[in-house]
Amino acid sequence: MEEKHKCPVCLRYEFEEYGSFDFCPICGWCDDPLEGSKPGYKGGYNGMTVEEYRQAWINNDKVCFVSNE
Ligand SMILES: [Zn+2]
Repeated sequence: MEEKHKCPVCLRYEFEEYGSFDFCPICGWCDDPLEGSKPGYKGGYNGMTVEEYRQAWINNDKVCFVSNE
């Protein structure tokens, strides 16, 4: 299934398909379909909600790509 969609964090990069688990080259968000589609969901690949990740990205300019939690 192909479904191009923008990165929910930076809204600049476009992922090629839904739930690709690719990393956004701009903000480092992993294209986790659960976290990407449920704004309050936490505990997926990124370990943060979209909103938390966006705030961290804005504040730090970039976020560590690896989630250790
Ligand atoms: Zn992004």
